[in-house]
Amino acid sequence: MRYFPGKKKKAVTFSYDDGILQDKRFVEILNKYKLKATFNLNYGLLGGGQWEDRGHIIRRIDNHVVNDLYGGHEIACHSLTHPSLVELDEDRLDKELGLDRKGLEDLTGRVIKGMAYPFGTYNDLVIKNMKKNGIVYGRTVEDTRNFGLPVDFYRWHPTCHHNDKNIFSIIDDFLNKDSDDLDLLYIWGHSYEFDLDDNWDHFEKIAEALSGHDSVWYATNMAIYDYMNQID
Ligand SMILES: [Zn+2]
Repeated sequence: MRYFPGKKKKAVTFSYDDGILQDKRFVEILNKYKLKATFNLNYGLLGGGQWEDRGHIIRRIDNHVVNDLYGGHEIACHSLTHPSLVELDEDRLDKELGLDRKGLEDLTGRVIKGMAYPFGTYNDLVIKNMKKNGIVYGRTVEDTRNFGLPVDFYRWHPTCHHNDKNIFSIIDDFLNKDSDDLDLLYIWGHSYEFDLDDNWDHFEKIAEALSGHDSVWYATNMAIYDYMNQID
């Protein structure tokens, strides 16, 4: 029988994109509830670039806060400048993926091997270039609403977005499930959405519901990737 570390049968992970100021408040909630997440950053946009959405100004975080802000969590790639990667030729792909990874590694002193696809778009050429640049998994935005582990880590489909209208029944199903399989609950989003939707309390409820279960391994995406590749 297969287990996650600590003989646990369940794992929970989060994946949040774009490296924006609201990540600070988000990380405080994660840390309060002892949850682990992966943050997907555009190295070329750190410290600059802002946009407006529904009356809110959304700003990128500065380079110098990255290490402190994401301490204890995973930092992963999200391309250098956030294009839709399926529009790019090999040279530009190489730049978007290679320079994002290298910039983040130089900035953080960490080994970085994960990625979330900007706009959720990918194809075989994108995946080929990720392999060339040492990126080992890619998260999509294709919600499964189930708890399966990825068949192909370059098509790592999450369970659901935090605004899924059934999120609390999904969480209940996950926590109550009793099976011999390994189960993963994988939630994704952007922390600025909590300002736009004025629903930070919604996320706090999610965090509280998922926190403190002995049966659950709280892990970053990369910890799950490494563990699954070690036992398979
Ligand atoms: Zn993004």
